[in-house]
Amino acid sequence: MAGFKDILGHEQIIEHLQNAIAMDKVSHAYIINGPDKSGKMMLAEAFAATLQCEKGKTEPCMECHSCRQAQNRNQPDIVYVQHEKPNTISVDDIRTQLNNDIAIKPYSSKYKVYIIDEAEKMNVQAQNALLKTIEEPPSYAVILLLTTNADLFLPTILSRCVTLHIKAVPDERIKNYLMSRYQIPDYQADVCAAFAQGNVGKAIQLASSEEFHELKAAALQLIKRLDDIELYEMAEAVKQISSYKLEINDYFDLMMIWYRDVLYFKATKDVNKLVFKDEVYAIKKQAEQSSYNGIEAILNALHKAQVRLNANVNFDLVIELLLLTIKEN
Ligand SMILES: [Zn+2]
Repeated sequence: MAGFKDILGHEQIIEHLQNAIAMDKVSHAYIINGPDKSGKMMLAEAFAATLQCEKGKTEPCMECHSCRQAQNRNQPDIVYVQHEKPNTISVDDIRTQLNNDIAIKPYSSKYKVYIIDEAEKMNVQAQNALLKTIEEPPSYAVILLLTTNADLFLPTILSRCVTLHIKAVPDERIKNYLMSRYQIPDYQADVCAAFAQGNVGKAIQLASSEEFHELKAAALQLIKRLDDIELYEMAEAVKQISSYKLEINDYFDLMMIWYRDVLYFKATKDVNKLVFKDEVYAIKKQAEQSSYNGIEAILNALHKAQVRLNANVNFDLVIELLLLTIKEN
C-alpha cells in the first residue's frame, strides 16, 4: 500500500480526497473511473488507510496499528467486496458483504470503508441493492466503486456518488519514474511509457514483462526486414505474426508507434523525441525510403487492419493485405 505522497500523478484526485478529509466533508460514495492498472486501487487504498489512520492526518502514517493492518489488507474496517463469478458481481455478493455488513458499526475506527473493484461487473439487481445503502448510508460508511467504465452504472447510482476520473500521466514522468525507481534503461523506458499511454501500472508491468520484450523484438524484426521479403515468403511472415494472435492489438500498437517514429523523424530529423531511440538507423533508413503519403498509408492500413480483426475478418487475409500495403509504401 502506498501513501498519497508515493503515488505518481493523479494530483487532482489526491487533492480532492485530502481536502475532503481535512475539511471533514468525506462523501459516502465515490466512483474512481479509469483504465485497468491506472492506479484506481492504489488511490482507494491510500484514501481508506488515511481515513482509518489513528493519527488522523491527510496521509496514512504507515506506523500505527491501523496503518499496519491496512498494509496487510487485514484492517477489519476496510472491506474488499469479493465476487464468486468472474464476470458478475451479483445481488447476493452485495447483500451479504455490504448491505448486511454495513449495519455493524466499525470495530475500532471512525469509518467503515468498502472497496468494490471492477464495480462495472455489478448487474442491475446488484446495483439496485447497492442503491438502497447509498441512499441511506450510516454516518460512518464510505463506499468506493472502482471501475473501468462508469457509463455502465445506473443514473441513480451516478447521481449519488462523487465521480473521480483518472487522467493519463505524461509519458515523460512515467519514463523518469521507470528509470529512477526500477533502473530501466532510457531507451526501454521510452517504449514502455509510450506504449502504456499514461497508465503507470501498465508501464511498470511492461517494463518487467518478458513477453512484452519478446513481442517487441519480434515486431521490430519483422518491420525491419519487410522490405527485403519476397512475395513468396509472405505466407511465412503471416504465419509468424499469427503466433502472436492473442496479443495482436499490442503487436499492432508497436507497429503504429514505429511508423509514427518514422513519420516524425522524416518531418523533424529530431532523434530525441523518438520512442525507439535505439533503432534510429533503421528509422532513418525507412524515413528516407518512404514518402509522407506512403507512411500515412501504412498508418491508415494498420488502423484499418485492427478494426477488421476486431470485427472477426479472417486473420491471415487481413495480415497479408496489411503486409502488402506496407511493402508497397
Ligand atoms: Zn496510521
